[in-house]
Amino acid sequence: MRRPLVVGNWKMNGTRRSSVELAEAIAENFVSESVDCAICPPAVFLAELGAALAESGVCLAAQDVSRFESGAYTGDVSAAMLADFSCAYVLVGHSERRACFGEASALVAAKFVTAQGKGLIPILCVGETLAERQDGKTLEVIAEQLDAVIDAAGLEALSSAVVAYEPVWAIGTGEVASPAQAQEILAFIRARLGENAEAVRLLYGGSVNAKNAAQLFEQQDIDGALVGGASLQAEQFLTICRLAEA
Ligand code: PEP
Repeated sequence: MRRPLVVGNWKMNGTRRSSVELAEAIAENFVSESVDCAICPPAVFLAELGAALAESGVCLAAQDVSRFESGAYTGDVSAAMLADFSCAYVLVGHSERRACFGEASALVAAKFVTAQGKGLIPILCVGETLAERQDGKTLEVIAEQLDAVIDAAGLEALSSAVVAYEPVWAIGTGEVASPAQAQEILAFIRARLGENAEAVRLLYGGSVNAKNAAQLFEQQDIDGALVGGASLQAEQFLTICRLAEA
């Protein structure tokens, strides 16, 4: 039985004050024995939000991590630093990192390895663009993104990670993948994960909200969600967490 996981990706939003208020509203009202919940605030707010989330059951997570361990890498935040601030998870390969910052699969794989080396649980994001889907290349794209990490880290490493399928065309657009579309790709991903595949948590991300989450969570291979916009509203995010319980 896989334990559901709901992760909120706040992206580059909020102020110091609004972030603390949002974290507190989530922490005070999150009650679940059976669902894991994490939020990914901007890195500068990690320290303060760690305190706001303390003993709430809501984990801290990061949106990105350096591929390097330490040293002269201006602007980067290391895996050791994230672990020091009690981050449990870190996103790697989010489509916005791939598209806006030119992160190729080899770099994503290096980040995955570095994060795991410091005890963080990587949430590997994979997904196709609309053009790739229309060209019939969805499975090819997903396989390339996944295999880059399997080649670098080994299949065994994936069994203690999380994989999120996030079709790029669904992120921030309001156009959620149908439950069947999401299930098809997540089943494909699970089939590539080897003998421990059944234990790996797979998430769907892309315009998940309180209205569409229940249908997605009914799918066999969807073990939770990576939520962007809807995670910026405490009540809606908490509703998605509650829906994951079933
Ligand atoms: C995301 O940022 O990973 C995401 C899925 O965003 P949204 O829920 O807003 O589509």
